[in-house]
Amino acid sequence: MIHRFLLRCHGCDEDFCVRLELLPSQLTRLAIPCPHCSYCIRGRFQGMELDHVRIEWHDATMTKAPDGPPADDMPVLTVSLSA
Ligand SMILES: [Zn+2]
Repeated sequence: MIHRFLLRCHGCDEDFCVRLELLPSQLTRLAIPCPHCSYCIRGRFQGMELDHVRIEWHDATMTKAPDGPPADDMPVLTVSLSA
């Protein structure tokens, strides 16, 4: 299942779009580089049911992605967690 959302980096205060491919997991830690400033954004998700996944970010603010494709100048980071 693909989750799509926006993150605002706490390092540079810029937004970018994340496409995150999730598998059910007890607890998975993530570290992704900000495409704007390379700041390491740490997060984790938890959830065995894909409908009830909780995602938390330590170094960024998550907001829901708008409907429709992202703006042309919006970087998109694809993160795949296939085991
Ligand atoms: Zn940044």
